[in-house]
Amino acid sequence: MSAILERYAQRFPKSAELHRDALEVMPGGDIYRAPDPFPVYVDSAEGAIKRDLDGNEIIDYLMGSGALLLGHDHPAIADAVRAQVGQGMHLLSNRLAIRWAELIKELIPSAERVRLTASGTETTYLALRLARAYTGRKRIAKFQRHFHGWHDYVAPESDRATTAGIPDEALSTVVILEPDIAAVERLLEEDDDVAAIILEPTGAHWGQFPLPNPQFLHDLRDLTARHGVVMIMDEVITGFRASCGGAQERFGVLPDLTTLSKVAGGGLAGGAVAGKAEILDLMASPDDSRLVLNSGTFNGNPLVAAAGIASLELVANEPVNERADAMAERLKRGLDDALMKMEVSGHVHGIASMVHLVLGVECSCGGGICTLPHSEIEKATESERVNMLRMAMLNEGVDMMSGGRGFMVSAVHTEEQIDRTVEAFERALSSLREEGVVT
Ligand code: PLP
Repeated sequence: MSAILERYAQRFPKSAELHRDALEVMPGGDIYRAPDPFPVYVDSAEGAIKRDLDGNEIIDYLMGSGALLLGHDHPAIADAVRAQVGQGMHLLSNRLAIRWAELIKELIPSAERVRLTASGTETTYLALRLARAYTGRKRIAKFQRHFHGWHDYVAPESDRATTAGIPDEALSTVVILEPDIAAVERLLEEDDDVAAIILEPTGAHWGQFPLPNPQFLHDLRDLTARHGVVMIMDEVITGFRASCGGAQERFGVLPDLTTLSKVAGGGLAGGAVAGKAEILDLMASPDDSRLVLNSGTFNGNPLVAAAGIASLELVANEPVNERADAMAERLKRGLDDALMKMEVSGHVHGIASMVHLVLGVECSCGGGICTLPHSEIEKATESERVNMLRMAMLNEGVDMMSGGRGFMVSAVHTEEQIDRTVEAFERALSSLREEGVVT
């Protein structure tokens, strides 16, 4: 057994034991199996710190898979949720849902109308249905590796099948493209049945595989407008994080539809499709043949709305993004210095509070947007190596995002926690070197 794995098993024995129980009742043991062979089960969390069943304190950069820009249990969000408990946890029509939608509209530049949903996956599913109804066309285009949830029309991240159980009929309506503007142009010229193009606006996997250049979004906007194709920006991660108004505000490109979740729901399960009134108003169309239906028991749930309002009011009125971005910059500098000091090849990149780590290859991007070919990034971040890194980091009291490929920084990480993270990274690199995972 590797020394990293041995230490991991010694440090997290209660998680190993609980995982055996989970395997008896849940397929694969848990929603998050990573790291392999068992995940760390968390008992409580506050701010940027979580505590596991064995009492270990862990600096968290998984941060609710990006939902917790304001950290675990932010007092204002927790108070807002608490205030609603006791006044009804499930009200259907309620005033909080309206205020939540108003705030989304105020913050997201392209939002003329807002429809609330209960998750990111539901949100991209609804956006695609709206686009198909609006254009009367069938096909959807998406980009290689871009992630938009698990429903049938977006589950294939690439040409390789990523899940069984999707009918060929559904797959035949999805075109997967390289993020290359010439490829988009060719498709739209040859195929007049494309309803929508959906993309992550900072590149696949929240920027791990960046878009080819800053002009790409502008060119895509022009092309989709020219061909009457609905441009959907999936801002489930970047919404309220890439800037208060999301990636669209940061890059100055307004899509037709925007999908939101994560920070929008303040850490609870919520989402929204926002965008052009003439598209979203199909949900209230008097013409039955154009009416787009979507119902959801938990849409606009008052607890989620309360958390969402508190989260978005903080984003709108406090320097939340500035703080998170500054902490991310400090982390990037620290990780880069550690790589240099330890003489390990690798680099960090990313924008705003999203930090990506690539071991084994250098890049001249200077910590901004990585310019390496995606195939090289993919090779360098293959699962076995990042799984070892994630375990080595957990052994040192730090949890990473994307299975060990990055860090989701929040507005509540402190300088001291960032500096401790960098020290942990140095120690993790030493243990990876001892195992021959890095040279
Ligand atoms: N879109 C993006 C860009 C995401 O990152 C995610 C989830 O990570 C989703 C959609 C799906 O969201 P959910 O997990 O809430 O279904």
